[in-house]
Amino acid sequence: MTETGRDTTVVIVGGGVAGLTLGNFLLGKGIGCVVLEKHSRDYVEQRQRAGALDANGVRVLNEWGLGEAVEGYSHGDSDAGVPLLIDGEERQWRVGGGDDEDEVDGAFCPQQILVRNLIRIFLRDGGDLRFGAQDVSLHDIDIDIDIGTDTGTGTGTGTEQPTVRYRDADGSTRTLTCAFVAGSDGYRGVSRTAVPDDVLTSSTYEFGYAWLSAMTQAPADPLAVLAVHSRGFAARITRGPHASRLYLQCPLTDTVEQWPDERIWNELEARFGGPVEPRGPITSRQVVPLRGVVFSPMRHGRLYLLGDAAHLISPMSAEGMSLALHDADALAKAVVRQVEKNDSTLLDSYSDTCLNHTWERQASAVRMTQTMHDSGDTTYEGEFRKQIARKNLETMLEPAAPHAS
Ligand SMILES: Cc1cc2nc3c(=O)[nH]c(=O)nc-3n(C[C@H](O)[C@H](O)[C@H](O)COP(=O)(O)OP(=O)(O)OC[C@H]3O[C@@H](n4cnc5c(N)ncnc54)[C@H](O)[C@@H]3O)c2cc1C
Repeated sequence: MTETGRDTTVVIVGGGVAGLTLGNFLLGKGIGCVVLEKHSRDYVEQRQRAGALDANGVRVLNEWGLGEAVEGYSHGDSDAGVPLLIDGEERQWRVGGGDDEDEVDGAFCPQQILVRNLIRIFLRDGGDLRFGAQDVSLHDIDIDIDIGTDTGTGTGTGTEQPTVRYRDADGSTRTLTCAFVAGSDGYRGVSRTAVPDDVLTSSTYEFGYAWLSAMTQAPADPLAVLAVHSRGFAARITRGPHASRLYLQCPLTDTVEQWPDERIWNELEARFGGPVEPRGPITSRQVVPLRGVVFSPMRHGRLYLLGDAAHLISPMSAEGMSLALHDADALAKAVVRQVEKNDSTLLDSYSDTCLNHTWERQASAVRMTQTMHDSGDTTYEGEFRKQIARKNLETMLEPAAPHAS
């Protein structure tokens, strides 16, 4: 325990993208934090999930001096489109053109590489990261005391302070006292459950279809190709130099058993309208329902939720990691402001700031998801929506090359 009477300033529950990024940001500013991660280092460094970071995500890392975490994974040309095959005919989908005034490129960085790099940097710089933390529970997060400038002395009248309990890898029960708890333990974590039911609201939108998502040990060339087809949406996206992820729109009721390797490749070729090379062994597959979820508020007392613990976004937008980085950036700035200036303004507005950004991205994700999916298979939304989606899709594409006469 420090002389301030607390073990650390921030306990960060969950060592995924959100938690590790926040930990690195705080560490870089000399603010004490402890990251508690349920799984082993080996497990989290191998866990393959997302692979895209938008330009804002890369900029946030650069601003905090963490650009090395995605070094070598830049998109390359921020103005380049992504090939989109519409009924087999290739067009270019304009993905750039956002609010990126500095022309920073996004990155196709496999999530496990980003996580691996964030862990390496955090430990190299002296960070306290505890793997195998089981049965994490939060206590006294809703106390309301003046936390003072050092976030440690606590000028409240009581001795209560936020406390996090867990069982370490040896089975011993540990307790950490802190000024703030960052709940970054993902969609199925425990942090959010510490917010009383009558405080937390949850808003969900189900798109009504799923993705069969499969990893293959073969690179994607080009890095991303999408397809809109009457059989449904399809895509192949890079996951580094030796792997790629395949996506096929499918009914919510489908199971992975219905998708053997051969069917996946054949279906991909049917929707792409031609051969798909190179093929590789399929190493994992899952059926992922497409949905958006937002929990509100993102703050309760001294608990701040970030990343998937607070929201899920349609994977079509590829913004899950970027949203996690946005929240980590906002919370780190708020804690720094509190510690350095005894100014709680940013902490007080954290939930509103992040929810506003989240809803903005959800709006864009819903538009993009519906446009890409409704444009193809009419089984889900019908012919009328298909025609509307096709018109909307056209506005997202580079002009078609004129036909030779
Ligand atoms: C198949 C798939 C494809 C995706 N594709 C993309 C994509 O292309 N682009 C994109 O941006 N996003 C994508 N996403 C979403 C992206 O993976 C998430 O949005 C992102 O991981 C969120 O980061 P996070 O740190 O909030 O949560 P997580 O990555 O889930 O991290 C939470 C961490 O907390 C730990 N934890 C959980 N419970 C506890 C506990 N009780 N105690 C301690 N630790 C705990 C977990 O082990 C984990 O390490 C995809 C997701 C999936 C499943």
